Amino acid sequence: MTNAAPDRAVPFKRDRGVLLVGGIPADRLAERVGTTPFFVYDRALISERVSAVRAALPAGVRLNYAVKANPMPAVLQHLSGLVDGFDVASAGELREALNSTMPAEHVSFAGPGKTTAELRQAVAAGVTVEAESETELARLREVGGLLGVRPRVALRVNPDFAIRGSAMQLGGGPQQFGIDAERIPDVLAAVADGDLDFEGFHVFAGSQNLDAESICDAQRRTVELILKLAAAAPGPVRYLNLGGGFGIPYAARDRALDLAPIGANLAELMDTAIRSELPAARVVIELGRYLVGEAGVYLTRVVDRKESRGRTYLVVDGGLHHQLAASGNFGQKIRRNYPVELATAAGDAAEDASENENKNEYETVDVVGCLCTPLDLLGDRVSLPPARIGDLVAVFCAGAYGLTASPTAFLGHPAPAEVLV
Ligand SMILES: *Cc1c(COP(=O)(O)O)cnc(C)c1O
Repeated sequence: MTNAAPDRAVPFKRDRGVLLVGGIPADRLAERVGTTPFFVYDRALISERVSAVRAALPAGVRLNYAVKANPMPAVLQHLSGLVDGFDVASAGELREALNSTMPAEHVSFAGPGKTTAELRQAVAAGVTVEAESETELARLREVGGLLGVRPRVALRVNPDFAIRGSAMQLGGGPQQFGIDAERIPDVLAAVADGDLDFEGFHVFAGSQNLDAESICDAQRRTVELILKLAAAAPGPVRYLNLGGGFGIPYAARDRALDLAPIGANLAELMDTAIRSELPAARVVIELGRYLVGEAGVYLTRVVDRKESRGRTYLVVDGGLHHQLAASGNFGQKIRRNYPVELATAAGDAAEDASENENKNEYETVDVVGCLCTPLDLLGDRVSLPPARIGDLVAVFCAGAYGLTASPTAFLGHPAPAEVLV
């Protein structure tokens, strides 16, 4: 036993030692859901996060939600009343976006490899298609002719710069995303014939960035690039999607992103360039992870506790088949633990926790999932109060790229529930 403190503060309170999500004790919530493991998303935290972003953004900059971060229908419905638009990346996401109260005019569809069937759905719905290639544009034109509808189109640009500090880079050099910036003038000339309703441009340079200065730099360079490209546009630029990529802290050493400099930088870009040069543009920031990531918790139950040659393993009923990212296998270069805590303290342990709050006894354990692979590791040597079989373990930062970014079919376990509280 040691007195190590938990790795990182999470935005959830406790009552008599039990984790509260949406004000509901985790054990009570598990009863209500009826099964473990499950994902729970806290709507108040999502609302607070949207408010914080809004407070930082200058007037005139809109906030879109990137649906792929968490496409749960109830989450989309909640967000449809809070954000200005939805960005989708498949026909499935498009359908869920249109099922919410978000108007089709405020939905945009990006992503490489859109099929003609998907383009037909998008054009019929009246959403903006963010074209990722010249052949996609040609197919879009055909679809418009077929349906007798002028497709609304924006060009996704593969910028001629890369963003520093992003865990995932989507700009600079060759990319499957967007049309190379140097090709854009020719493409704009082809768009000018009137078959397409030209809206504007989209640049998304990277994801999971915790460095405000890098994000500001990317936004400055994006605006500079778009001003150059806009000179060849067939009409006024009515849509300018500057991307996002705002990151959230996962590991103990991560620092939360500072929104203030990003807001100040955008205000300056609006005042010095965008309002004068692109007065008709709806300026959009698109965020996925940042709006929902920290509002989610994956709750899983301890089914076994075992010692092996000096190490203690808590085996839980969940695992990487639901939370691939938390196991470190979703594109991470270095595996680092997501914040993991004991959500309940069963039986005597609960009494101990309430009576002896100052005792703070922790042990070092590995939290492993139920899959037959050593990759199924949710907590590598984490410091937890002593857990028993039946206790609930919380894996935080589960609101984005959780369930739908995981190989749920692997090992054939049932799909987990998802609830919004
Ligand atoms: C995935 C994606 C996003 C969302 O990225 P986050 O890091 O979750 O904010 C935004 N825009 C595009 C084009 C994307 O593909």
